[in-house]
Amino acid sequence: MRNGSEDNHSGGLEVTFWGVRGSIPSPRPDLMEYGGNTSCVEVRRPGAAPLVFDTGTGVRALGQNLDEPAVHIFYSHLHWDHIQGLPFFRPLYDRGSTITFCAAMPAAALEAALRHQMSSPYFPVTLPEVGGVCRFNQATEDGVEAAGVRVVPFPLKHPSGSTGYRIEAPDAVVVFITDHEHGDREIDARVARHCREADLLICDAQYLPSEYAARRGWGHSTWEHAVRLASEAGVKQLALFHHDPDRKDAEVAQIASEARERFEPSIAAREGLQIRACRAAKETR
Ligand SMILES: [Zn+2]
Ligand SMILES: [Zn+2]
Repeated sequence: MRNGSEDNHSGGLEVTFWGVRGSIPSPRPDLMEYGGNTSCVEVRRPGAAPLVFDTGTGVRALGQNLDEPAVHIFYSHLHWDHIQGLPFFRPLYDRGSTITFCAAMPAAALEAALRHQMSSPYFPVTLPEVGGVCRFNQATEDGVEAAGVRVVPFPLKHPSGSTGYRIEAPDAVVVFITDHEHGDREIDARVARHCREADLLICDAQYLPSEYAARRGWGHSTWEHAVRLASEAGVKQLALFHHDPDRKDAEVAQIASEARERFEPSIAAREGLQIRACRAAKETR
């Protein structure tokens, strides 16, 4: 039997970054410290089924490490860098596995888009031919209950739209925001509300402030904006995410260092990084 403190230690939400790069996979030697795979983050309560946010190319390695029969996949949106790894996600082919796909769009539209990716001439195996059972759901404002947590979607500003998620466990809150450009007052206010007092905020930080003027309207934020959002929303830790495909390791490290000067609990997400988000420490102070 575990004692109380060990129970605290095993609570919260376990977060694993499998792909942190934006736009396109970037397998270059000078980007390997943070990693070249695109958007994929695993979140789970200890011992519960995994929730996967996006299936960029990082999802391939995640699939090789999973043996649970049930997986819940949530999509920010369906740009290539967020779906491209799905055909190589091993659990999809396991007989006996159930994959539940969810996005803030009608279930039929989500299914059609994912089927399209896995069809001739793009891929040799179609989605209906895989061994696992695939289910499709629409995430609505009220949120979705899955694997012991509540997942609440909220809209972001991005070409063709994107969705952020607030992931609520009884003892931890993680917020996943990728492919979001600040600047729409109404959307920004709603985003800030959903970030309030999160234990971990994962946030699009693709651009340097000096790059932003030339990339306005492309649908991404600067690291400065991510820092401001985290600080104003009172979050406990910030993970900068969706690194630019040309951002070298030394440059990402420099961004993280500058971010820490403004908001101390800032890090740059890197492939393989695991964080346990938990409210317990705060409450017992
Ligand atoms: Zn993206
Ligand atoms: Zn996008």
